[in-house]
Amino acid sequence: MKPAKPPSAPAPPPASGLCCRDCGCRELRVIYMRKAPLGRVRRRRECRHCGKRTTTYESEER
Ligand SMILES: [Zn+2]
Repeated sequence: MKPAKPPSAPAPPPASGLCCRDCGCRELRVIYMRKAPLGRVRRRRECRHCGKRTTTYESEER
């Protein structure tokens, strides 16, 4: 038996934790990425829907 989800349920957060703060879409294309201090990677992303740009600092994957 599956639990019925209400149609007005909020969308679950994306696994990557990245979504546009303005329109909430998850299609953020990377403009460029650069190494940041403390072994992190700085990524510049732009929303494909509203054009909102955000900078994220992520741990460098090895
Ligand atoms: Zn957006």
